[in-house]
Amino acid sequence: MPYDDESTLPTDTAPADALAATAAQARSAVLERLVSEDPGRFRVLTGDRPTGRLHLGHYFGTLHNRVRLQELGVEMFVLVADYQVLTDRDVAEDPAGFVEELVLDQLAAGVDPARAVIFTHSAVPALNQLLLPFLSLVSVAELNRNPTVKEEIAHSRQSSVSGLMFTYPVHQAADILFCKGNLVPVGQDQLPHLEVTRTVARRFNDRYGNGTAVFPEPEALLSKAPLLLGTDGTKMSKSRGNAIALAADADETARLIRGARTDAERHITYDPARRPEVSSLVLLAALCQGRPPQQVAEEIGAAGASGLKKCVTEAVNDHFAPIRARRARYAQDRSYLREILREGNERANAVAETTLDEVRRAMNSRC
Ligand code: ATP
Ligand code: MG
Repeated sequence: MPYDDESTLPTDTAPADALAATAAQARSAVLERLVSEDPGRFRVLTGDRPTGRLHLGHYFGTLHNRVRLQELGVEMFVLVADYQVLTDRDVAEDPAGFVEELVLDQLAAGVDPARAVIFTHSAVPALNQLLLPFLSLVSVAELNRNPTVKEEIAHSRQSSVSGLMFTYPVHQAADILFCKGNLVPVGQDQLPHLEVTRTVARRFNDRYGNGTAVFPEPEALLSKAPLLLGTDGTKMSKSRGNAIALAADADETARLIRGARTDAERHITYDPARRPEVSSLVLLAALCQGRPPQQVAEEIGAAGASGLKKCVTEAVNDHFAPIRARRARYAQDRSYLREILREGNERANAVAETTLDEVRRAMNSRC
C-alpha cells in the first residue's frame, strides 16, 4: 500500500489479540524490508477455504499481498483448503464449483499459475499424513485456547463442535510446513494459527531434528487491512452473509454498501477504536484509492454516512472494474481452471512426498 499508517488495526478484538496483532504488524514491516532485499529467501504458503466467492476482506487482507510478493519474485504455493470446509458445517455445499470460483478469484487478482503452485489439499495425501505426527506435538489445552477457533465455533452452523474444528490449526501447520513455507500473508484471524505452526515446527525440530532444523518457523505477513469488517460490522466473512464479493457487479456492490452498518454520529472521521464500522468503510475507500484513510475521512466529513457510502461505492467499483473484467474472461474457460489445479496438485504432491520422506527419516520410522 502506498502509505504507512499503523492505526489501521481494528480494536474491537480482545486486548491480548490486539497486542499480538500490533506486534505482528510491526514485524510485517521488517519482513517487507527483508523480502525486498532478498526475495529468494522466502517461500510463501497461503490459502482460503472454498466456502464461497472471495471478498474484499480477502483482497486487501491477503490476496493483494500474494500478487505483490509474486511480482517481487517470491516462490508461492496457493492452497484451496477444501477439507477445512467441513470444520463448521456438516456438508460442503458445492465443493467442485467453489474450488473453481476460488481459482478464478486468484487469477483475476493477478496470481500467475505459471509461477504459483495452486492446489487443493485433499489431492495431496502426503501433506495430510503430516497431520498425525504434528498432532502429537500439541496439547488439547493448547488447542482449546485458540481465540480464532473459539470465535468460529460461536459462528458455526453445527450444534456440536467436531474434532476437525479443534484440530484444523494443526492441519494448517501441515499445509504450511509440507512445502517449508516461511512467509504467510494472512489476515489477523490467522495469527493464533501461525503460532500453532511455529510451535509444531519448533517442537518437531527439537524432538527429531538431531541438531538441524527440518522445518522453518514461518512468519505472518499482515497487510494494512488485517481485519476488514463486513456490512454488519463484524469480520467480513464468506460464511456470514456480510461480504462484498470481488466478483460482485457494480449494482450489487452499491446495494450492499448502502445497507452497511454505520453509527449515529453525522460527521465522518477515521477512528478505528471508537468507530469501527465507519472507519472500516473509510479504510476500504482509502485502500481502493491508494490514499491515507484520514484524508478520505476529512474529505467526506459533513457529507455523513450517505456521502461515505457514495464514496466507498465509487472507489470499490472503480478499483475492481478491471479485476472483475478479467475474472469474467477467465470464467469462460472452465477446463483451463481444472488444468491449473491438475498441474498444481502434481507439483504439490512431489513436494509433499519429499517432505514426508524426510519426516519419516527424522522420526526413524516408516509409518
Ligand atoms: P469463512 O467464513 O468461510 O471462514 P473467510 O471469509 O473467513 O471465510 P477464509 O478462507 O477463512 O475466509 O480466509 C482466507 C484468508 O483471508 C485468511 O488469510 C484470512 O485471514 C483472510 N481474511 C478473511 N477475511 C478477512 C477479512 N475480513 N479481513 C482481512 N483478511 C481476511
Ligand atoms: Mg475463515
